[in-house]
Formats: sequence, structure tokens, C-alpha cells
Amino acid sequence: MSLIVAAALLSARARIPASEASLLLAEATGRSKAWLIAHDDEVLPIEAATRFADWVQRREAGEPVAYILGWREFYGHRFTVAPGVLIPRPETELLVEEGLAAILHTPQPRILDLGTGSGCIAISLALARPDAVVHAVDFSADALKIATANAETLGTKVAFIRSDWATSVTERDFDLIVSNPPYIHPDDEHLHQGDLRFEPRTALAAAGAGLADLRRIVDAAADLLKPGATLLCEHGWDQAGFVREMVVAKELLPVQYRDLAGIVRVTGGTKPPKAA
Ligand code: GLN
Repeated sequence: MSLIVAAALLSARARIPASEASLLLAEATGRSKAWLIAHDDEVLPIEAATRFADWVQRREAGEPVAYILGWREFYGHRFTVAPGVLIPRPETELLVEEGLAAILHTPQPRILDLGTGSGCIAISLALARPDAVVHAVDFSADALKIATANAETLGTKVAFIRSDWATSVTERDFDLIVSNPPYIHPDDEHLHQGDLRFEPRTALAAAGAGLADLRRIVDAAADLLKPGATLLCEHGWDQAGFVREMVVAKELLPVQYRDLAGIVRVTGGTKPPKAA
């Protein structure tokens, strides 16, 4: 059977999208998608066929592609992921972009990432700013293992700390604090759909209608920022107003950023510069 025919047959039978089937086939064969297209008359080796059939079956049962393959690309880098960490989302790249913009003119910036998971935000920042000193925390020891391995594989240095948000952070005077915390309402039906069913619930949902962790982060970050420094948090599509209120209550100057769809998905605050 040719490679392409094999992929088409299996994806049709399994009812998984053809784009996913071709990615799984590329990984199962150790070839690129381009190679597969150029060599559609190659015979599929038996081990690759078996692996591919197994992956298609798992995908059909709902398992996220990122967990099946064990990686997901984020901000141009390949991050190892496993069920102990949230799968990096493209929308979170907004947090990295705006974070980098906030420290553009700050030499040797001191950065803190709260709830790092796979480490994708902290590591992307560290790779983009080799002069930065990056600290990242997570409550999950499992997540910290994955994040540490990712930093090593991608060849950058991040100081990982086990901490319940900022409670065990002893460093101060950060130039940038970023966080993609859990912010989904615990009753949100999306938690029972698609990839989210397989991801750690503690990385997705938060008490207080999804706002409890955001509040803790804003409260803690206000004390850890240098004057003139910025906190940026990702949040849900309908939470921008609530997070803005938290930021203002801590006497930070609010900043908000929209995604490509025009929805505010990142809110934060800048600590007022010290009065002269
Ligand atoms: N953006 C993710 C989703 O809605 C949630 C990520 C998070 O809770 N930080 O699927």
C-alpha cells in the first residue's frame, strides 16, 4: 500500500482530519510531510504502519495529537509535552510577544513566569532575550520536570522553582511578570470536550468563576515588580474587565492587548515609576 493511500484510508475510516492523519503519518515514518507527498508510491514499512494505526486509533478516541506525539510547537520551538502539562496554545504567543515588547529597552531584564507548565512561555522569552534572568514557578513537580527538560533541550537557562504561585518566590524587583494561569469556570462545559478532557484540570479551571488564581497572581505580582515594570496575564474572552479591576485595585496602571480576533485576552499592569 502506498503511504498516501494508507493515510487516506485510515483517516477516512477513523474520521480524523486529514491534516492530523498526515502529521501522524509523517511522525510514524520519520519523514516530513513534503517527503510523503513526493514519495506517494513508497511502501509503508510494517513498524511504521503499526505505529500509525495505533496513533490514529488513539486520536479517534479523543487523545490530543500533542500528547500522542509528545510535543507541540510554540513560538517557533518544539516543546515536549505530556498529560501532566497544558498543551501550549497559539493564542498564548500574544503573551510572549507583548512581554518581549514590554522589556524591549530593558537590559538584562529579570523575568518571572507564574505557573509555567511545559515552560513554553519562560523558555521562549529566555531564547528571545539571552541576556535575561528568567525564573519560573509551578506547583506541580511533574510539570517542573518537563519544563526543566525543555529548557535543557532548547539550550537555555531558566531557574525553576516549586511554588504555590509566588509564595515561595524569594527574588524581588522583576522587570516583567507573565502568567497563563487556569481561568476556566469550573462549570464550563468545554472542560468535558475535545483536548481539554485530557489536560490537567488544575491547569485549566479555577475557583471563583475562573478568577481566583488570576486574583492571587495580580495581588502577589504587584509587590514583586520593580517601579516601571509590567505584569501580563492571559485570561478568558469575557474576563478582561474583571482582571482590569484587580490590577487597578493594586494601584497598577492597566494595560490590555487584543488577539487577532480583536478580543482582549491579555491584561496586566505597570507599576507606577517612583515619584522623583
Ligand atoms: N486557553 C485555554 C482554553 O480555553 C485555557 C488555558 C488556561 O486555562 N490557561 O482552552
